Amino acid sequence: MSFNIAIDGPAGAGKSTIAKRVSKELGFIYVDTGAMYRAIAVYMLENGVDIHDDASVKAACGQIRITLGYEDGEQQVYLNERNVTGLLRTEEVSRTASVTSANPAVRETLLDLQREMAAKENVLMDGRDIGTQVLPNAQLKIYLTASVQTRAKRRYLEEQEKGSGCTYEEIRRDIEERDARDMSRKIAPLKKAEDAILLDSSEMTIDEVVEEIKKHYREVCQ
Ligand code: C5P
Repeated sequence: MSFNIAIDGPAGAGKSTIAKRVSKELGFIYVDTGAMYRAIAVYMLENGVDIHDDASVKAACGQIRITLGYEDGEQQVYLNERNVTGLLRTEEVSRTASVTSANPAVRETLLDLQREMAAKENVLMDGRDIGTQVLPNAQLKIYLTASVQTRAKRRYLEEQEKGSGCTYEEIRRDIEERDARDMSRKIAPLKKAEDAILLDSSEMTIDEVVEEIKKHYREVCQ
């Protein structure tokens, strides 16, 4: 049987950085489910779909096939066989994904694929609803969070490195809006699974969070 680790939490909590490190060190496959929602958002943007109209979004989902691959250990996302990995990390795609991910047809499109991967392999999957909906039987569940200020500051530094002109205030507002949408939606809202371990990384380094998760993994394995 495969071993599944679920890491959920709000935008900017450091999930993907931590998840990449932990999965590499444990020899697990890392599945970034946010990237799958982002690829669907790319389709909606490229095809001018009205993302606030549920029927249009549902119809578009019928035209979408998302698949994952790995190159040098890095996850690649294919949208209808085209590698769109390089298009996923823009603010426009972030905002669109956070709106379209509340649509049941979008979630349905991705759920089976996510579960199939976890059934076959030892995966570490991160997202918003992994511990609560996608993999309720995951052997280890982590809810990784940090204060809004810490998350906005981290994102701001990342954006600065990329040379983008976003201000700290814009990023903080965007994070707050995404948190509110992700937590308040009717279907698969972001929340801590009852059996998830809460980790607040506001005052922790990346190394400390990685070590803490590995410690919990070892405890489960014993
Ligand atoms: O984690 P990331 O910021 O890449 O996710 C982009 C968006 O996709 C999130 O704001 C959220 O709305 C959505 N998402 C989701 N469920 C997941 C992963 C991401 O609804 N499991």
